[in-house]
Amino acid sequence: MDYTSYLDGDVLGCDSFPIFLFHGVIRKQKWNVRNRNRKHLELDYFTSVIKSLYNAGNPVSMDEIVWHHNHNEPLPDKSFAVTFDDGYRNNFDYAVDVLEKFGIPTTFYVATEFIAQNTSAYIDYVEYAYEVLDKDPEIINRRAMKSPCIPTTDVLRGEIDGLELTDKMTWEQVVQLSWTSLFTIGAHTHTHAILPMLNKREKEGEIFRPLWMLHQHGIVPKHFSYPEGKEDDFDDETISLLKSAGVVCCPTAIHGVNTHETDLFRLKRIGVK
Ligand SMILES: [Zn+2]
Repeated sequence: MDYTSYLDGDVLGCDSFPIFLFHGVIRKQKWNVRNRNRKHLELDYFTSVIKSLYNAGNPVSMDEIVWHHNHNEPLPDKSFAVTFDDGYRNNFDYAVDVLEKFGIPTTFYVATEFIAQNTSAYIDYVEYAYEVLDKDPEIINRRAMKSPCIPTTDVLRGEIDGLELTDKMTWEQVVQLSWTSLFTIGAHTHTHAILPMLNKREKEGEIFRPLWMLHQHGIVPKHFSYPEGKEDDFDDETISLLKSAGVVCCPTAIHGVNTHETDLFRLKRIGVK
């Protein structure tokens, strides 16, 4: 798919701009079940997408999007933004080099428990179980199925090849990214919880705790993204809590483009496959 077709704001006579959503970048897809939805893109393909966007468009940061919204000014023609959700280590290992080479401002939204304990979303464990079931049912670590909160490396011990699909960045890596002017760190809850499924007190925990943890690491987070990010994955109470916590912008994962007038807590994104 040619993602530069989304950079058509001047053609339509309005300032529509896409925010692209990525999760991971890997060397080679070599699994049957795992990564079936191409959450992690092969490095060559990722590089070609970024290169074509760089050649065709005008990369902007999420802070620039906020500035243009607050000053009621359209963004330059063919603007686009790049974002990564979750905090995979492969972002640091593979994607960052490409983004730096082309000078693409990027926001990384990290779930702080993923960073602090190298845990994974439940679906990653389920995919892993299906993947290994055919080969050797004994490999399945039953603890992983019972508790989604044990460290990834425990589950995949002995299966080093698969770590690039689950390993998360360390705090040192997150802090290193935050020190560059090109990259921004945002929060993505603590445990990757679906916010509207929680009561208000639990929601506060999933919003304030990751912001506090980022603060503890010298990062002043103003950005957040909703886990899953579809229509049912955020609500008015969530938005009001985010605003009270000092968050200025929180994109969804609802498919579409935006204008400078789009509500900063309902921005749409284009998932890159
Ligand atoms: Zn996520």
